[in-house]
Amino acid sequence: MTAHDASDPAPRLAIVGSGPAGCYLAQHLSRRAPDAEIVIFDRLATPYGLFRYGVAPDHQGTKTTAKQFDRLFEKRGVVFVGGVEVGTDLPLETLTELFDVTVLATGLSQDRPLGIPGGDLPQVLGAGRLVRFLNGHPDEYDDQPRIEGDVVVIGLGNVAVDVVRLLAKTDGELDGSDADPDVWERTVGPIRSITVVSRSGPDAVKADALMLRELADLRRARFAVRGLGDDESASATAQAFLDLEHTSSDGDLAVTFLLNTTPVEVDGTHRVTAVRVRSGDGVDELAADTVITAIGFLPENPVTELPRVQRAGWLAHGPVGAIPVHRVRAAELADAIVAELARDIGRRPRPGVAGLPAGLLKGATTFEGWRRIDAAETASPPAGRVRRKLRSAAELADVAHGRNTNESGNGTLT
Ligand SMILES: Cc1cc2nc3c(=O)[nH]c(=O)nc-3n(C[C@H](O)[C@H](O)[C@H](O)COP(=O)(O)OP(=O)(O)OC[C@H]3O[C@@H](n4cnc5c(N)ncnc54)[C@H](O)[C@@H]3O)c2cc1C
Repeated sequence: MTAHDASDPAPRLAIVGSGPAGCYLAQHLSRRAPDAEIVIFDRLATPYGLFRYGVAPDHQGTKTTAKQFDRLFEKRGVVFVGGVEVGTDLPLETLTELFDVTVLATGLSQDRPLGIPGGDLPQVLGAGRLVRFLNGHPDEYDDQPRIEGDVVVIGLGNVAVDVVRLLAKTDGELDGSDADPDVWERTVGPIRSITVVSRSGPDAVKADALMLRELADLRRARFAVRGLGDDESASATAQAFLDLEHTSSDGDLAVTFLLNTTPVEVDGTHRVTAVRVRSGDGVDELAADTVITAIGFLPENPVTELPRVQRAGWLAHGPVGAIPVHRVRAAELADAIVAELARDIGRRPRPGVAGLPAGLLKGATTFEGWRRIDAAETASPPAGRVRRKLRSAAELADVAHGRNTNESGNGTLT
């Protein structure tokens, strides 16, 4: 990790957010403009966004694709600045003065609210928040959700399927994952049933057929699907639902998909007791101790329009598309940025990372700091697991900076 010398006239590019969109963009930019200084900021001490805190703990194959970006941060001119929240620790306006181009790739972190009566009762929980918690996100460290009894999941995209799979798995089925057994024990209580409610029919649900098929491996689950309609074998997803029903075991956990079904109200006073749903002309009541909403994501804050500021990833395109889509879009954006820089021949050199306040850099974490976190987490994982994540922001920062360890240095940018 080295920043450019102040006298170097090469372009300075800032990327805010080190998730898939930010990292793929940096990768493409570093190839198309090898002399550029590329600085990737993240509000967290660790890089890789939803690779680390969204992708399910039992999908290690997807998570480890983030490792390809390690090589990026080893290159001259590509710098990770962690633990710096743009807009709070560092004004966006400052960034635009220091860098030729700033790209916001900050994702969408707020669960879309349910928007029906009772939708804000306790025990109505966003899937994004739940998955962050199960993935050890430091923002959720002090919060302790408890999922138990009859669980109703609203929405049927891939995130909803992740939630069903994670909640239905036995401890043994989580072997090879980085699911923390202590977190699981405190969060996931005895679950009697999981009912997934989807407004869409089998051909229109957002979940991939492959994700649905994976559910067939769950040892405890006994599947039922309602609302398939007449054209039930028309699509791969419809066929996946039929196969789920047919291959279903006699497990003790009832997993029911209610398709073509709309939630109309969440019942309860101090906590959830039921979800009322409509299908066709009828209204049914589903017993519920926990409701998990998986109906999409919104931006944390409105984004200010400023010159030489671009957007990428979920922030630019909404919460659709899997990770490989970001690679393709990043290539297009990198081309556009490089073309724009080439046109801007009268450009005056900007300071880039060297212009950031020294105090800010001192507190920031580096890619070397992430390597320390990675090493600490994988050194002694719980039995059957591949890592034990550090969960509090303070602990992550301490390890990144080499505090409370025998190492020191290289963990800060100064
Ligand atoms: C629960 C869940 C599971 C998923 N599983 C899969 C999967 O298995 N396979 C798949 O292909 N896709 C999956 N996806 C989709 C995939 O994660 C997204 O397509 C992708 O992460 C979006 O990338 P992004 O870079 O736009 O946003 P993010 O990955 O969210 O990255 C945004 C980054 O910006 C940082 N940030 C935010 N605000 C600031 C700020 N003000 N200053 C500095 N930094 C900031 C955040 O800390 C974060 O690191 C999943 C999504 C979710 C929610």
